[in-house]
Amino acid sequence: ISVSSPLAAAQAYVESIYSQVVSRDPHETEFHQAVREFVDSIVPVLAEHPKYQEHGILERLVEPERMITFRVPWTDDQGKIQVNRGFRVQFNSVLGPYKGGIRFHPSVYAGIVKFLGFEQIFKNSLTGLPIGGGKGGSDFDPKGKSDQEVMRFTQSFMTELYRHIGPDADVPAGDIGVGAREIGYMFGQYKRIRGGHESGVLTGKGVIYGGSLVRTEATGYGCVYFTQEMLASKGLDFKDSRVIVSGSGNVSIYAIEKAQQLGARVVACSDSDGYIYDPEGIQLETVKLLKERDRLRISEYVRIHPHAEYHPGCFGIWTVPCDIALPCATQNELDAESAKTLINNGVKAVAEGANMPSTLDAIELFLEAGVLFGPAKAANAGGVAVSALEMSQNSMRMAWTFEEVDAKLHQIMKNIYNNAVDAAEQYGVPGNLVAGANIAGFLKVADSMIAQGIV
Ligand code: GLU
Repeated sequence: ISVSSPLAAAQAYVESIYSQVVSRDPHETEFHQAVREFVDSIVPVLAEHPKYQEHGILERLVEPERMITFRVPWTDDQGKIQVNRGFRVQFNSVLGPYKGGIRFHPSVYAGIVKFLGFEQIFKNSLTGLPIGGGKGGSDFDPKGKSDQEVMRFTQSFMTELYRHIGPDADVPAGDIGVGAREIGYMFGQYKRIRGGHESGVLTGKGVIYGGSLVRTEATGYGCVYFTQEMLASKGLDFKDSRVIVSGSGNVSIYAIEKAQQLGARVVACSDSDGYIYDPEGIQLETVKLLKERDRLRISEYVRIHPHAEYHPGCFGIWTVPCDIALPCATQNELDAESAKTLINNGVKAVAEGANMPSTLDAIELFLEAGVLFGPAKAANAGGVAVSALEMSQNSMRMAWTFEEVDAKLHQIMKNIYNNAVDAAEQYGVPGNLVAGANIAGFLKVADSMIAQGIV
């Protein structure tokens, strides 16, 4: 007769949760991946504290409190009626109102929204601010749409969403395909339907009508602040380092900006078609004009700076030798092959500005090779952290200065780093920030769930 050890019992618990998740929604592979990474790293916690299993914490955590799916009808510029699908997942509200962005991208379906919402629970917990986890989106493709089409679609999206959200209930923000323009249209429509200026219902608003300074920069800056902490633990810094940053959207642009301010040479960035390599260092003003103002492809960069190179293909950027790599584009953009190439080229630190950009195999390779690795939940939490600061300012009906918000963001990123390091140390996986971030994020959520009863 063998009495199973606490560790074996915890492993069996995690396995049963994972297989339940897979069998319930077999095609939601991104959600499975996010759950897999998470549950594996909290095994030592579950082994030490049987109370989490006794309270059915994982069973409840992996099932959203609410999943809303809705029709979004709109009329295109040709007068043709189009229908997209809208989603909002309200995943967990023990720590505060549901909080998380809205993504407009053709790849959006339940599995994407659920993986993002699941990640958001623990990311938001790590910020130390009172926000629960949620996410939303639509399979609408903003690429090639006119401004009027984007407005009509976005208004229709909000005409359904408004009844599910509110400043104390659920506070959406931006994500891929949703920036200041879309948030503005959503806010205008919400305000019109509700008949009141509830500024705290959305974050990422324009600074002139209730938005927070630094929100635009927050995810990218925060990712670099987090990386600074990782580098400092090994006596390294950004100064004179070679950096590559995938993507060329909001996260990427401000990661590049902060890295450059710290003296780094950022030599490559990308979009979903390919990457640019500029050995003299990326001219960020050009990228901002191309992407933020003109909504063009990154390949245009080489027409303005002919000494730079453009290479088509989405994994190519990881072949550029660098000291620091910041994946800031999208999920699963960095696979095992890319990780091997980066490691062979001597990468010292990788920090995830995007959500789940590295595959599970890639993460394992980085950890095995002793590369400093900052997981998304921790490294990209700066965006949602400043969103929570935007909510605070809206509640107070006042606004902090750029310096004030930036200082708070910087401190939050340091705290997240320290909490992840401490949690990893305490549960026997020193230096593993994937486990550390998952554990530190989990403990607050799980203990709050126990305190609030079976709900
Ligand atoms: N979409 C961002 C994220 O992935 C920000 C969410 C927010 O500000 O609510 O964390």
